[in-house]
Amino acid sequence: MLLDRIENFDIFRPKMDSTKEVLHAIATFTADISPALPYVNAELGGWDYDQANQVLLLKLSDGKWITLHPQKIALRGARDMAEAQALLTWIKAQINDIYERRDHITPRFASQAGLKVIEILKLLPMTNCKVCGYAACMAYAAALREGEISLKDCPPLWEEKYREKRDKLQAYLEVFGWRALDAE
Ligand code: SF4
Repeated sequence: MLLDRIENFDIFRPKMDSTKEVLHAIATFTADISPALPYVNAELGGWDYDQANQVLLLKLSDGKWITLHPQKIALRGARDMAEAQALLTWIKAQINDIYERRDHITPRFASQAGLKVIEILKLLPMTNCKVCGYAACMAYAAALREGEISLKDCPPLWEEKYREKRDKLQAYLEVFGWRALDAE
């Protein structure tokens, strides 16, 4: 098991705004989880991956963030101590499980933060039809980059005449490991 024992787990309210109803938490350990990070990035769709410093940022649904460092895990957004503990248990299990399966996973070194809204926009129908609920394709492109919506939310894109654009957009998103925030 790559990450066996957590040495310290500190849970606290952020000093910048102690009125916020969220907690921050930091777990530290002596194991080095950096060999697992490109695989975790591939499996969980990291938002940002700094390969040089081995820092992987995961953006979860409902505003939570997890940052993985070689010997530290930072959690942001838990509502209470039980949720912070559950989040740590979950990510620890994910790291160990993914690392165990690494021979069957293609590591990913790119991340979603590398996606450019303008490049996404170029591959949309660009009719500003508002069917997606956004005022313009640009707003949809920005939300898609964040993982807040999916390609299915732009029905015109699935018309035959936009097939080439759709295929290119899917390929572009795939390069950066894009995934919707509510994806399983
Ligand atoms: S549904 Fe598609 S084409 Fe229409 S505004 Fe939204 S992103 Fe643009």
